[in-house]
Amino acid sequence: MTSNQQQTIASLGAGLLTGQICVVDCSSILGPSTTLQHFGAQSGGQQPAVEIHKISEYDEDGPFFAWNWLKVGEHAGTHFDAPHTAESGRQHPDGSTETVDPQKLIAPACVIDVSQKCAEQPGCLLDVSDVEAWEASNGPIPSGCWFLMRSGLDARSVASGDDRHPGPTADCIRYLIEKDIVGFGSDCLSTDASDADQMEPPYPAHHLLHAANRFGLASLENLERLPVTGAIFIAAPLKLCNGTGSPIRAMALVPA
Ligand code: MN
Repeated sequence: MTSNQQQTIASLGAGLLTGQICVVDCSSILGPSTTLQHFGAQSGGQQPAVEIHKISEYDEDGPFFAWNWLKVGEHAGTHFDAPHTAESGRQHPDGSTETVDPQKLIAPACVIDVSQKCAEQPGCLLDVSDVEAWEASNGPIPSGCWFLMRSGLDARSVASGDDRHPGPTADCIRYLIEKDIVGFGSDCLSTDASDADQMEPPYPAHHLLHAANRFGLASLENLERLPVTGAIFIAAPLKLCNGTGSPIRAMALVPA
C-alpha cells in the first residue's frame, strides 16, 4: 500500500469516527411483516413469509442466552440478487452468493430520482432518455458503480397495498450494462417493474443484468438521503452456499 492509499484509508476511518462521514441505513426491517416480492407461478413462484422462532430467552430452554432461528427466503426484504437467480445468469461460475467477488460489492453509487414521475404514474418505466438526462446533469456514470433508482414508492406501496411499481426498460438496462455498472438497485420490491412479465425479454432487469454477471438490489430504503453522486454503497450478501440472493444490510457512506 502506498502512503497515499494509507492516507485515504486513515481519512475514511477518521471521517467515520468524527461523523463527517455518515452511514445511511438503506435496509428495511426483516421480519414476519416484511412485504415480499411475488412472481406468478409461471415466472418464479412464491416465497414464504419470514418467520422468527425462539430457541431460548434466558429461560428454561437456555438460561444464559437469548437467540432465535429464522425461516427466510433468499429474496426477502432488502436483498441482493446474484446472477445465479436468473436462468440467463446460471452459466457464471462466480455468480452465486458464495462465489461473488466482494471487491465488487462496495462501490460508488449513482442515484436517479424518478419519484415525481412515479407519484403521477406508479407503473412508469425508467428509460434510456432518463439516464441520458441524468448524465447531462451529473456527468458520466463511472465504471463499476451501483446505479440506484429512487421511486419514492418504498413506504407508500406497503401502506396502500398498491403493488404497481416502476422499473427499467430492456434498452435502459442494456445502456447501463454498456456503462459497466456493477448492478442496478431499486427501492421497489423488485429490480423489474410490476408489469415486467409483459416486456421483451420478460423481466429485463433480471434477464439482462444477470446474463451480464451484474447484480440486483431490491427494497432499498432512504435513497433520498443519498447524494446524486458521491456516496459509497455497501451491499454485502451472506455467503450462502450456492445462494441465488440474500437479505442485506444495505448501507451508504455519505458526507455529513
Ligand atoms: Mn430478488
